[in-house]
Amino acid sequence: MQTDFNAVLFDVDGVLEFQGKAYPGAIELLDFLRDRAIIIRILTNSTLKSRQRCAAQLNQLGFQIDENEVITASYATAQYLKTLNPRSCWVMLKGEGLAEFAEFVHDDQNPEYIVVGDYRDGFDFQNMNKALKHLLAGSKLIIMIPNMVDHSLGEVELTVGAYGKMLEGAAKVSATYVGKPNPYVFDMALQTMNVPRHRVLMVGDSLATDIVGAKAAGIKSVLVKTGEFRASDLDGRVQPDYIVDTIQEIRALFKPR
Ligand SMILES: [Mg+2]
Repeated sequence: MQTDFNAVLFDVDGVLEFQGKAYPGAIELLDFLRDRAIIIRILTNSTLKSRQRCAAQLNQLGFQIDENEVITASYATAQYLKTLNPRSCWVMLKGEGLAEFAEFVHDDQNPEYIVVGDYRDGFDFQNMNKALKHLLAGSKLIIMIPNMVDHSLGEVELTVGAYGKMLEGAAKVSATYVGKPNPYVFDMALQTMNVPRHRVLMVGDSLATDIVGAKAAGIKSVLVKTGEFRASDLDGRVQPDYIVDTIQEIRALFKPR
């Protein structure tokens, strides 16, 4: 089953690495693709990481990734926010991802936009209630990713979407979501390459974000049965174009030279 892809988008957690360890064969696969002049992009729903940090962490594991090849959810959200020319924003986010928002006016007292990322301990009663009051007073809500739970740091944790949806429901407002599966981030990646959609492949372990998003964006997808994959994921209506047990098998989708 060999195909003609010119570009591959990789999710990170559960695909290239899991909890700080590269999957066997992942580094070699990227080398194999680069040898064939396949364009590589990293498309992750991480909000805590900046592009630079994401690339640096992958490179520490032995990958060779340039930060310009990375689109994190925090970077994508900052790019989206820029198009709105906001008067001010309250970015509920900890970690290096915050560096992507350096150019904006930050104001948690009267923000035009509330932007929800992974705020960690910042998601306390005081801040959540403050955000609720701002939303009721007219602030607009942007939620970086829809994911409600995360396993990437070890144990299962509540994450961005859980808090964002709490605010959305409590304030009865409708938020804008940016990260996967929203086509916005896929379009952002596609705009950085001159490749038709049918020649682009998304590699992911999450049906709900990677595969659903790829379908919505009109690109092909391969589901890797690692990371957060569960057998029940395949019971639903959405199916990936290809399914592999490990990332090593993806090589078979490409023609030998
Ligand atoms: Mg993943």
